Amino acid sequence: MTPDVESQLQRLNVRLDRERRARIEAETIAEKGLRELFVRQQELLLLESIAEAANSAGSLADAMGLALDRICQFTGWPVGRLALVDWPEHGPPVVRATGLCNPSASDRLAAVRQALDRTATTGEAGMAGLVAETRQPAWMDDLRDAPAYAALAGVAPDDIRAVAAFPVLAGTEVAAVLEFVGGPDFELTDELRAVMSQVGTQLGRIVERERARAHLIDAFNDPLTKLPNRAFFLRELGRALRRTRQTPEFQFAVLFVDLDGFKVVNDSLGHGAGDDLLAQIAQRLIDSLRRRPLAVISGQAPTDGPAGPTVARIGGDEFTILLDQIHQPEDALRVARRIQQNLATPFQVAGQELYASASIGVAMGDVGHLTPENLLRDADVAMYRAKSLGKGRCELFDETMLRRAAAQLQLETDIRHALVRNQLRLLFQPVVSLAEGRVIGLEALLRWEHPERGQLAPADFLQIAEDTGVILTFGEWTITEAVVQLRRWQQALPGGERLSVAVNLSARQCLEPDLLGIIRRISHLADVPPGTLRIELTDAHGDQDYDALGRVIGALNDLHVPVALDDFGTRHVSLTALAELPVQAIKLDRAFLSVLGTSARTRTVTSGVVGLARQLGVEVIAEGVESPAEVEQLLAAGCQIAQGYYFSPPVEAEQVPSTLARVVQRWSGIEL
Ligand code: C2E
Ligand code: CA
Ligand code: CA
Repeated sequence: MTPDVESQLQRLNVRLDRERRARIEAETIAEKGLRELFVRQQELLLLESIAEAANSAGSLADAMGLALDRICQFTGWPVGRLALVDWPEHGPPVVRATGLCNPSASDRLAAVRQALDRTATTGEAGMAGLVAETRQPAWMDDLRDAPAYAALAGVAPDDIRAVAAFPVLAGTEVAAVLEFVGGPDFELTDELRAVMSQVGTQLGRIVERERARAHLIDAFNDPLTKLPNRAFFLRELGRALRRTRQTPEFQFAVLFVDLDGFKVVNDSLGHGAGDDLLAQIAQRLIDSLRRRPLAVISGQAPTDGPAGPTVARIGGDEFTILLDQIHQPEDALRVARRIQQNLATPFQVAGQELYASASIGVAMGDVGHLTPENLLRDADVAMYRAKSLGKGRCELFDETMLRRAAAQLQLETDIRHALVRNQLRLLFQPVVSLAEGRVIGLEALLRWEHPERGQLAPADFLQIAEDTGVILTFGEWTITEAVVQLRRWQQALPGGERLSVAVNLSARQCLEPDLLGIIRRISHLADVPPGTLRIELTDAHGDQDYDALGRVIGALNDLHVPVALDDFGTRHVSLTALAELPVQAIKLDRAFLSVLGTSARTRTVTSGVVGLARQLGVEVIAEGVESPAEVEQLLAAGCQIAQGYYFSPPVEAEQVPSTLARVVQRWSGIEL
């Protein structure tokens, strides 16, 4: 070969070489572009499918399961799981296993799956804990190096070596961690970081949405009975009202159900038993409906259309029911009666049989109601009416109830001013000793001179006075007024120094810590002889604490204030009260007199009670004596002291002196 040819060949070679390199380079570049494009496309598909999972999946678990599957398909990692992260007030985040792994992981790796999910609950949370604290992805080439993964290392086949974990961010906080195992060639590239960070943000939105939903459920649910609460109920009422406005044929009703005497259960058996009873009542209410009621399953209630009935607990022992598909009030009343029937079967609470009953108010939803609150109030007013008529009743709302309730409310306002506006009066009724033929004392009876309604008797206002608490100041006023009058009569009337005055006090008033101080002060100031101020305990037959009442009565006795048990015989616990309380007298209710003449049997009961009292050293005073025949029967039964219209009705203080004279005259006219 000539040197010429040789150099030409060499050049050619160089050129070919250069071209080949260029071609390889070009091919490499093209291939890389294609590959990147492919990867990019896969990433997009992954993100898209995760977004789709987030939107379509029914629950958090479903969405996360789908997402884990997609990630594993994309990366080729065989197993992935989700752990939730809790953030306590103090201390490091707590990683909590969820049991959630990629559902299509091969069965061969079941043990790996379980071991991976257990790492969160084994003291050290491994990578998940690290990710929760740093908010950054983390990975490890060989899980056999880490004690946290000892269990995993024990079961993992040789082709599983690496662990990687990625944060799921809700806002700026790590709400969950995705954790995967992979092969020995596992590598956390920048691309992978980027795509997993986007996945984490996507999934974070699902977690946030789930949390918001849980909050909504909290906000609309009564945790005790699992029924919807007041807020939810009002929302449903609003919906129903809107519907009647649009479709006048649509009719609905509201039932307001209030248990009778629930407080007694709570007080006597404890709050746990009370809670138990409420939960059982909730179930009976649901069972009383023909269709399943609406539950708070999601924050979003259906916007319109038929929703079904709603049962809610809106307060302590108050339940409300919205009944749709109601055609007339009678339909709602029928449901109310069915509820009352269902409640009549005894409940098993704290190993005891309990009987419950409820007062129910019914209000029809109609266009006249502007707000859900108004409608609920009407049902409440009807319930209140039902309750005031006795237990276990149901009443349909009408306008007169509202007026009555408004008047009641006005009365509550008025009664707060009654004392300072000088509207209280005391009337006095003579108490007569049948044996001695003289008036031995007077019972003070309260009246309220209402500016518009005239003179009101205790029955019209005592309950309100108790409810509003003014009863306590009324009591102080009554004692003072009675003692001041007594002092006058003791000084002015012939033989008056032996007169006594009896003041009525409710058990609640007696338990008032100030009572003894008040009595001590007043008797001291007025300087009346010991024993001439007396107290009548008016409602000591209920569910009171006899120990506490007994101590107060004992203290009153120490102050030389005799105490009488009022309305004796009107309740079946009268004898218990007599046995437990150190009283000096009982006041036989008029009910005793009215049966006294009817049979030998009732006469025996009355004389028995009188004899029993005498054995206890307790005085018996008969109330409500209206005729000479009743006086004779009393005397025959051994009762020596009486009061009633027959002797005198209650009179004003100024009339007391003349009344006393007349009573004595009348009394001496009776033939025995
Ligand atoms: P009570 O202590 O049993 O008082 C007797 C009631 O019977 C009085 O009614 C009296 O007017 C009425 N009465 C008197 N004689 C006869 C009669 O012959 N026949 C009939 N049918 N009734 C007669 P009033 O004044 O309306 O008092 C009702 C209740 O209110 C009292 O019953 C008492 O429990 C309570 N009360 C009265 N004043 C006070 C008070 O200042 N404080 C408290 N806490 N309760 C009071
Ligand atoms: Ca009385
Ligand atoms: Ca009485």
